[in-house]
Amino acid sequence: MTTAIIGGGVIGLNTAWSLTRRGEDVIVLEGGRIGSSASGVNAGWVTPSLSTPLASPGIVATGIRHMFDKDGALTIRPRPDTAWIKWLWNFSRAARPAAYERGVKALLNLNEHTLDLFDQLHEDGVEFEMQKAGILALALQPGGLGWFRQLFDQLTPMGFKGTIEYLTPAEARAMDPAVGPDIQEAAHTLIDRFVDPDALLTGLVTRLTELGVKVHEDRPVSSMSRSGSKWTLHTQQGPVEADNVVVALGAAANRLLSSVKVKLPIIGAKGYSVDLKGSGVPPRHALYLMEAKLGLSPLEKGVRIAGFFELPGSGNDVPQRRITQLIEQTRPYMGGWSPESANITTGRGGLRPSTPDSLPFIGPVPSQEGLYVAAGHGMLGVTLAPATAAGLTSMIVDRVIPEHILPFQLAGRI
Ligand SMILES: Cc1cc2nc3c(=O)[nH]c(=O)nc-3n(C[C@H](O)[C@H](O)[C@H](O)COP(=O)(O)OP(=O)(O)OC[C@H]3O[C@@H](n4cnc5c(N)ncnc54)[C@H](O)[C@@H]3O)c2cc1C
Repeated sequence: MTTAIIGGGVIGLNTAWSLTRRGEDVIVLEGGRIGSSASGVNAGWVTPSLSTPLASPGIVATGIRHMFDKDGALTIRPRPDTAWIKWLWNFSRAARPAAYERGVKALLNLNEHTLDLFDQLHEDGVEFEMQKAGILALALQPGGLGWFRQLFDQLTPMGFKGTIEYLTPAEARAMDPAVGPDIQEAAHTLIDRFVDPDALLTGLVTRLTELGVKVHEDRPVSSMSRSGSKWTLHTQQGPVEADNVVVALGAAANRLLSSVKVKLPIIGAKGYSVDLKGSGVPPRHALYLMEAKLGLSPLEKGVRIAGFFELPGSGNDVPQRRITQLIEQTRPYMGGWSPESANITTGRGGLRPSTPDSLPFIGPVPSQEGLYVAAGHGMLGVTLAPATAAGLTSMIVDRVIPEHILPFQLAGRI
């Protein structure tokens, strides 16, 4: 059986790897260059600790407060578009306490084996940088760790296995000399990791190629159709036939799914990142800057600063103003390392494929034999990619939808 994976982002490539390891014949069709989408731009956090829905009690009020602040960390922009208004309405409903709690549990279950699955990639020879020092959350204001504390208080009774250490500012500085003198509160999560997102993609492509999988770049699929037991994917270079198809197109999923008359509530939320060397000794941990809502990942190639959530987002443009903000808003948190902005050429932007309830779609398209979707992973695509891939592999190879994947089905949500 041949499975065509459409989309060479972190979801598509993990799925290709997982299926290949189970003996499936796989082909990957990527419309552009691998790494140019959100999958290359992100902070690379593998974070079971922060795997909770964005749609949470209180978020709507925060969004409305910042609606017209084009420089805010979270911006929700009004737009006279029915799909967007419906998305926002469903987002506000998903933020109600009972729905939020259901979402937290679903993500907790999906993440149950995430760390093992990342280790399996390494064990199989997928080469990429992965660091296990955890996340250090830093607040400039007394009480600034507020929601972080609440989150752990909530997750632990639900069975979350991660631990958190609360640190005095002096302890945080001793642990990581990059932490600055103005920090008032700090906490260290031990379970979380981070990867170099570009290296993860490159490592997967290299391993897939070794395993005999053809990964085609610059091969956009414009439409698809089914005749008999086969799918035909239409590309400029000619048709591609497959028994099964996985649409792993992130925020672009609907463009292709329209050819089978399916529309998912996925909207792009734009974020940005920049890599820089800076001066001094780089952080030893991933840092979460509480008030600025930015994430820092000290990668071997430089420190990546990532953040901002612009809803709805579009396009590939990267306003210099946003990159400058990433750097300037980092500065107040820093001590032994400074994010010097000289020679910055690597500012990038990407669209997080966001669903109203912050849960991805992972499963078969109803009434379309052999067609599957894996899209809508929002802020958590890197974290959830191996678990998504394993779930799809069970569905495609074993013909079983595992119980923990049920909340992510399309049926009943579209
Ligand atoms: C600033 C920022 C920080 C983030 N930080 C984190 C983090 O720390 N941890 C985490 O877990 N997640 C993080 N995320 C989220 C994560 O990056 C996304 O959830 C994830 O990359 C989505 O992956 P994807 O493969 O679904 O989509 P994409 O990365 O968008 O990949 C889809 C691919 O499909 C291709 N494509 C589009 N149309 C076609 C077509 N017609 N035919 C063929 N191919 C096509 C695109 O070129 C693209 O390569 C962050 C995102 C951003 C923007």
